[in-house]
Amino acid sequence: MSIITRFAPSPTGYLHVGGARTALFSWLHARKHGGKFILRIEDTDLERSTQESVDAILQGMNWLGLEYDAGPFYQTHHFERYRAIIQQLLDQGDAYRCYCSKEELEELRTTQMANKEKPRYDGRCREHAVVREGVQPVIRFKNPLDGEVVINDLVKGQIVVANKELDDLIIARGDGSPTYNLTVVVDDMDMQVTHVIRGDDHVNNTPRQINILRALGAKLPEYAHVPMILGSDGARLSKRHGAVSVMQYRDDGYLPEALLNYLVRLGWSHGDQELFSLDEMVALFELEKVNVSASTFNTEKLLWLNHQYMMNSEPEHVARHLSWHIGNLGIDPASGPDLVGVVKAQRERCKTLVEMAAASRFFYQEFDDYDEKAVAKNFKAGTEQVLGELHEQFAAVVDWEAEILHEVVLKTAEHLQLNLGKVAQPLRIAISGTAVSPAIDVTLALLGREKTLQRLQRAIKYIKNLN
Ligand code: GLU
Repeated sequence: MSIITRFAPSPTGYLHVGGARTALFSWLHARKHGGKFILRIEDTDLERSTQESVDAILQGMNWLGLEYDAGPFYQTHHFERYRAIIQQLLDQGDAYRCYCSKEELEELRTTQMANKEKPRYDGRCREHAVVREGVQPVIRFKNPLDGEVVINDLVKGQIVVANKELDDLIIARGDGSPTYNLTVVVDDMDMQVTHVIRGDDHVNNTPRQINILRALGAKLPEYAHVPMILGSDGARLSKRHGAVSVMQYRDDGYLPEALLNYLVRLGWSHGDQELFSLDEMVALFELEKVNVSASTFNTEKLLWLNHQYMMNSEPEHVARHLSWHIGNLGIDPASGPDLVGVVKAQRERCKTLVEMAAASRFFYQEFDDYDEKAVAKNFKAGTEQVLGELHEQFAAVVDWEAEILHEVVLKTAEHLQLNLGKVAQPLRIAISGTAVSPAIDVTLALLGREKTLQRLQRAIKYIKNLN
């Protein structure tokens, strides 16, 4: 049997990390078994669904690299099919029209609550509905009255629900539009989904969906309900804990594979291994090993992982992502050194691409002001002479290479009888505006002769004006 999984987001917001993790687990399960992964947009809630959210979800999936083999399918394109299935259920006696008014249902609820019973529809229209003129009836599914539904959840283990706990679910509203549980069932059946992997906030829907699938004579999928993600305070992860949107992580300078690696470890483990390439994830991932309990989102760990990926990925790959961030700063990456060199120089010291882009800005653009503290500490009377000497030496360099530039700095220090720091640090501030940069020779090599000489001149002038 070939495996088919799906990710079925409702387009009512951006793609958040919880959704992304569910998508990742579904994707991994399909990939691992050579199966198919489907993207299905559950957009039947016309009031809450927006094209903007659809775009955000597609963008998030694309950025993460979670390729789907089929879709995106849109439930709003399937209304005919849902109508046909609702009719089929009516025809075969598995559904019925219910004319109960809001007030009636409210009254029922109040009585049940007063009697300390679980509020549920009592099925009063099930056998003989009183047809009411002018009332558009809803359609309810005839849930079996006896027996139980047994779910062998791949994550949660066995879940048993007695049918008498389940009331007759509305499958079509008064206006004829299908409800969530109906549309999911029809699509899962039509798309021959073998594994429904989703958040455990849906676990209560599952026995109801199974009963409808049974009534339709459909083959039942396996279910895997993934526990939720908590914030550091133990509450369900939400905006107030920080970034929850996948694209926010792009904007904050994370590599997609770092986020994927982080998400796969959130509730799943393989020994104490922390770093997984995508291939390793595919090979090692097992739904059955997903934790039963909720996991806590740990921003520090994600940051650590991101740094690992920045340091250990192909610099060309990191450079492609850095290019986007450099562009975001309004800088043309062609106006300075090749980004691959910049990545190699910066990746030990920068944990995010945003940090790296900011710290590399001076390679491409003149900086506005010198760092005040750095100036106070390093630009003294006489420093202009040191920089002047460097200017002269650099102007004479034929091959602008790190090793040779290193020699020049050393020789200048020797010649001026200064220790290296007294030369290298003012030089660093002169060319970068700050007291922190990669090794001075690498920095000079990347910056290039022209910018180096210009900036030395600018610093010399500046120091003269100070004193
Ligand atoms: N559309 C549902 C949601 O976004 C998911 C339904 C499912 O996976 O079965 O929560």
